[in-house]
Amino acid sequence: MGKYVYGPILSRRYGWSLGIDVMPKLKTCTFNCVYCELGKTSTKGYASLNFRVEMPPKFKEEFTEELQAKLVEHASYIRAITFGYNGEPTLNKNLDIILDITRKLRYEAGIEKVPITILTNSSTLGDPSVRKVLLNFDIVIAKLDGGTQEILQYVNRPHYSIPPFDGIVNNLCLLKKEMKTDTKLYIQTLLYKVNPPTSIKSNARGDNVVAIASAINKIQPDQVHVYSVAREPAEPSVIKVSKLELIELSDLMANNVDRSIDIYYFP
Ligand code: SF4
Repeated sequence: MGKYVYGPILSRRYGWSLGIDVMPKLKTCTFNCVYCELGKTSTKGYASLNFRVEMPPKFKEEFTEELQAKLVEHASYIRAITFGYNGEPTLNKNLDIILDITRKLRYEAGIEKVPITILTNSSTLGDPSVRKVLLNFDIVIAKLDGGTQEILQYVNRPHYSIPPFDGIVNNLCLLKKEMKTDTKLYIQTLLYKVNPPTSIKSNARGDNVVAIASAINKIQPDQVHVYSVAREPAEPSVIKVSKLELIELSDLMANNVDRSIDIYYFP
């Protein structure tokens, strides 16, 4: 793995995807999700809403060199370039510059149709400067695992500075309204169960997916993706839901929204 660019890795949704990590080596996130595959968020890496990561001097040259080399090797078969990995990428103060370089190099590699996507936990979208950068991605994939404040709290364990659930939903609505038609918003929901005895609570519940459906009706995203745990979670009692349960919960969600739901199940 390079300093900023990794892969290509086989992505669940896009096939071969080149990864861009704009976060420090220490996982830095406004959430501490019970299912996070990067482990628990440390006290130092647990970021407030206003915390921003600044890139080191000369990052433009280093990033350009790394991405150029990866594109020379892999441009012919990659299907996406995805920002995300070691935390919440919108906490990076220089995200706009990194995106500009990526768009330029994508053009030079002759693969303008390969989408540049970003994974966000949706917590920072109240900041107009964050939304402004996100509007220049091709696809924004935003997390929504709980349909109420209570569920958001126990699943994602947000930093206390993060807006409440209704505020997050309003910010997602705002982002969607600001997007031009060539930028897409996907909502992704991870559902998990737990192995008792544990104080951790499951979010794979009918009332939760109905509540998420209600938020989706407000946000009007372009797609909704439902999936479950695929790798070792931060909390050992967290386990994946079965394919059948995932289908049943997704069907329940779909019955309460005016769109289809895409299910991603990995045995
Ligand atoms: S938002 Fe993503 S990186 Fe942050 S704790 Fe949750 S799963 Fe991990």
